[in-house]
Amino acid sequence: MAGSLDFLKERLAELESQGLAIRPRTLEGPTGARARFDGRDVINLASNNYLGLANHPRMNAAASSAAAELGAGTGAVRTIAGTMTMHEELERRFAEFKHAEDALMFQSGFTANAGTVAAVLDKEDVIVSDRLNHASIIDGARLSRAEIKVFDHKDAQHADELLAETARPGRRQLLITDGVFSMDGDIAPLPDLVEVAERRGAIMMIDDAHASGVLGKGGAGTVDHFGLHGRVDIQVGTLSKAIGVLGGFIAGPRALIEWLVNRGRPFLFSTSAPPAVVAACIEALDIIADEPDRLERLWDNTRAFKDGLRELGFDTGASETPITPVVTEDEEATQTFARRLFEEGVFTPAIVYPTVAKGLARVRTIVTAEHTHEDLDEALEIFGRVGRELGLR
Ligand SMILES: *Cc1c(COP(=O)(O)O)cnc(C)c1O
Repeated sequence: MAGSLDFLKERLAELESQGLAIRPRTLEGPTGARARFDGRDVINLASNNYLGLANHPRMNAAASSAAAELGAGTGAVRTIAGTMTMHEELERRFAEFKHAEDALMFQSGFTANAGTVAAVLDKEDVIVSDRLNHASIIDGARLSRAEIKVFDHKDAQHADELLAETARPGRRQLLITDGVFSMDGDIAPLPDLVEVAERRGAIMMIDDAHASGVLGKGGAGTVDHFGLHGRVDIQVGTLSKAIGVLGGFIAGPRALIEWLVNRGRPFLFSTSAPPAVVAACIEALDIIADEPDRLERLWDNTRAFKDGLRELGFDTGASETPITPVVTEDEEATQTFARRLFEEGVFTPAIVYPTVAKGLARVRTIVTAEHTHEDLDEALEIFGRVGRELGLR
């Protein structure tokens, strides 16, 4: 026992020496466009709170009254005694939101993805996955024990070749992509991928974590953005980003949802979301419908901030969404950049290897609907000043 985990100290020291050790900053109050982290009030460009719902008064009230009325916890997993009326209501609402036949809530977007991929495929099957897909897809693919083939980022033709190469009678194939890629903010070429999936008879699945509430009419997501309703078999969404709370969901045909009730391991073996969470998620959908100007402000802010960064001479990569990276390439320069920005009053995380490839280190900015023009102008002024100081522009 004594000392049996000492090897972890060595590994941590190694991470430390390479500047790759992660030390989360601590939020000392509610999240928001400006927030207090580690004793400093900063402009917050680090959250996924796209629509500013995480601390919306209506959301907070919905969470409080659900807790008061129905308790803090559910007491069981969904399949035993933990399904409440409100879980079912939320699922109906999400099926509508996604124009799907049915939907199922999971405890997180991570478990929704991993649990679904693992439940739908087995070891005879094949998964064809974008190189930059989220970790939860990769874990689900591994759990399924299916063969995993990775296509070059956004390269539908490469995906097509891999599907052709791996096709065998009776073998199922899954083509899977993120809708919006979380580190670069670019959008998947979904029309091309759907066309390939249809031609090859593959199942088409999209992880819309960063697109739900952000892209498409009323924030319905990437499928809506491209007008591809009815042509994507499985849509994954998270309740943790634009929706502002916690959880994940799958939207698709009824048979898929029923299958996941029977075989989705995180659904079967982990306790259901508490009333406060579910009630706030339902309220989020109402607010999105009642306050469409939130989505407009998100995109206005996105355009203004991206243009501002480009005018300052920064490399914002391939971004097309509120996620805008500022690529500095060098790992150490990125860490210094993020630290100096924070000291000057802007919080943007440094994203380095292994989250992105070596040589593609960046600070990642995400604007929200709640940022004012003053917030963004001030952030740009600080970016300009710190970038000049460090010779990054
Ligand atoms: C954040 C994210 C997830 C996980 O969602 P959570 O609800 O936070 O677990 C899954 N996929 C992608 C692409 C994400 O960005």
